[in-house]
Amino acid sequence: MKVIDHINNAVGTLISFEILPPLKGKGINGIWEHLDPLVEFKPAFINVTYHRSESMFKRKPDGTFDKVEVRKRPGTVGICTAIMNRYKIDAVAHLICGGFSRQETEDALIDLNFVGIDNVLVLRGDAPKNESFFEPDPGGHRYAIELLQQVVNMNNGIYLEEDLKNAVKSNFCIGVAGYPEKHFEAPNMQTDLQFLKAKVDGGADYITTQMFFDNKKYFSFVQSCREVGINVPIIPGIKPITTRKQLTVIPRTFHVDIPENLSTEILKCKTDADVELVGQEWLLEQSRELKKAGVPVLHYYTLGKPHVIANVVKELI
Ligand SMILES: Cc1cc2nc3c(=O)[nH]c(=O)nc-3n(C[C@H](O)[C@H](O)[C@H](O)COP(=O)(O)OP(=O)(O)OC[C@H]3O[C@@H](n4cnc5c(N)ncnc54)[C@H](O)[C@@H]3O)c2cc1C
Repeated sequence: MKVIDHINNAVGTLISFEILPPLKGKGINGIWEHLDPLVEFKPAFINVTYHRSESMFKRKPDGTFDKVEVRKRPGTVGICTAIMNRYKIDAVAHLICGGFSRQETEDALIDLNFVGIDNVLVLRGDAPKNESFFEPDPGGHRYAIELLQQVVNMNNGIYLEEDLKNAVKSNFCIGVAGYPEKHFEAPNMQTDLQFLKAKVDGGADYITTQMFFDNKKYFSFVQSCREVGINVPIIPGIKPITTRKQLTVIPRTFHVDIPENLSTEILKCKTDADVELVGQEWLLEQSRELKKAGVPVLHYYTLGKPHVIANVVKELI
């Protein structure tokens, strides 16, 4: 079932989770250990992220180096399929522009269609770790909106080979990313919102937000979206802080602020176990307030500490 149908049919706020594929070489059991305790809360859907390959340098016997491309976390389509088989819960496959040609994207969409996954979250992806700016692959998309257009085309039976006759129409529900604190490359919030609106006008069914730790940022983002005519559901993405190190890693990686009340409490903690309790309580309060405000879905980024998410969701339902 499509995410948008889950939202339209819901009587209250839904729950969803997001996971990362395991590192290459690890089996799927780690995913089950992670998800088994969480699926008890009956999430409406589970997102699986996509990760581009990274360039690595391998030393050769003669002392020189070879540059090799390594995809550390492959398997998004397979994990989505396995989730649907094991739990009968809808999976949302993330798709990114970075590291993909249009042809490879089309192949992935065809696979998703064959296995019955009708939900995708289309994203641009970031620049590789050792590069400053995002550059599309040859034959790839530069912005998420171009990837979105490819999915919309396939939903209309238009494939890359334009002379394909009577091609099957896919039926993907399409989500896009939104940034309550602005995407870090956007010159200002209004410009970012106009590009977000273009994605929605181009066919996105809903928006999932970047993480935020201050609900006011989300509420004001939703209001700004409505003011510029973005009327689709906006799903808040949230996660707990569980280590002191995250006080600097999260702002640097995700370009979001940590409210002073929260950072002050974390700085008082003697151990990460204490930080985890503070982070859990903060996430619970955030979740309660968002639920009370009637958000369509509480989308939890579950990386690392699923038991913290489980403790929060247990209190909510
Ligand atoms: C919910 C969520 C899930 C994510 N999942 C993943 C994942 O699985 N894998 C992964 O690698 N990354 C993921 N990301 C990170 C995401 O890929 C990065 O934040 C990326 O930098 C931007 O992606 P986007 O889809 O928002 O890009 P876009 O919508 O393309 O926007 C990128 C930037 O370009 C600007 N822009 C947009 N369109 C135009 C245009 N036509 N002309 C000029 N400027 C434009 C925007 O304002 C923005 O600054 C996720 C992010 C979120 C919020």
